[in-house]
Amino acid sequence: MRIGYIGLGNMGAAIAGNLLKARHEVTVWNRSAAKARSLVDAGAILAATPKEAASGKGAVITMLADDSALDAVLTGETGLIAGLDKGALHVSMSTISVATAERLTEEHHSRGQRFMCAPVFGRPEAAAAGKLFIVAGGDPADIELADPVFRAAGQRVFAVGKKPSAANLVKLCGNFMILSAIESMAEAMTLAEKGGVQKAQLLEVLTGSLFDAPVFHNYGKTLVDGRFRPAGFAAPLGLKDMRLAGQSAETLRVPMPLLGLLRDHLLQTIAVEGEDIDWSGIGLTIAKNGGL
Ligand code: NAP
Repeated sequence: MRIGYIGLGNMGAAIAGNLLKARHEVTVWNRSAAKARSLVDAGAILAATPKEAASGKGAVITMLADDSALDAVLTGETGLIAGLDKGALHVSMSTISVATAERLTEEHHSRGQRFMCAPVFGRPEAAAAGKLFIVAGGDPADIELADPVFRAAGQRVFAVGKKPSAANLVKLCGNFMILSAIESMAEAMTLAEKGGVQKAQLLEVLTGSLFDAPVFHNYGKTLVDGRFRPAGFAAPLGLKDMRLAGQSAETLRVPMPLLGLLRDHLLQTIAVEGEDIDWSGIGLTIAKNGGL
């Protein structure tokens, strides 16, 4: 399949690498061109603009930081929209807002282009191993067209309906729950440690009994090790997701009091620790608030 791939950050570079390994013809573009070098060495074609990356391709994938990065890449004379052929598919894998996904659905369809959303669960290591969980929203024919991409990138695809934005709503709900789990583990570990129980021991009991799920195993280990740099998922991106979840909550009139607390802990962590810390670094803030 001839694929255009835009956005070679922590996640994008790993997914694009797997598309190359699966022997697709991949044309890449990234704002900082240097990040494309290793992929070009592995056989990718380098595009000079997003338009060039999209032009003449059956599908073009975007994996960018946020809504404004996606807008920057889509619009203008050299943008993706200007290059995408009629009938070709844009697969948005970034975690973006529901409102932006709805606007882009209209915009692509008005130009005879196809559009779907496929945000993912899994960190950069899972992306590199082709083990992502993909949440797909869009027309079933579009999901089928993108299937070779999903097979190279992930271990399972969940189709959540014809509306592309539904996939982003699911992803935002999921990230809210992941950060809630990190928050509750960090609070419990702080309590245990102040009471003389090692946090590793607490984690062993909990993951060996009632909390035997990847989110508790993986983030629990990060909290025990205190390894928050280099960030696999940077705290400012987590803050963005809490903001986007809050926007949907406001639109849909759903009070989410816990969301406000998570957002503030992320903000406090970024303010004190810096922009480069992983979002699980809220564990540091929680421990300090507890006097550790
Ligand atoms: P990242 O490493 O920070 O990469 C961000 C990408 O967006 C880079 O390619 C960056 O280009 C590009 N970008 C940012 N602003 C731009 C702009 N104004 N114009 C053009 N390009 C711009 O982020 P990531 O961790 O790969 O995350 C990508 C997406 O996946 C995000 O939506 C994130 O929420 C989601 N996600 C991440 C994880 C994770 O664990 N990391 C897991 C699931 C989902 P430069 O290289 O030039 O800066």
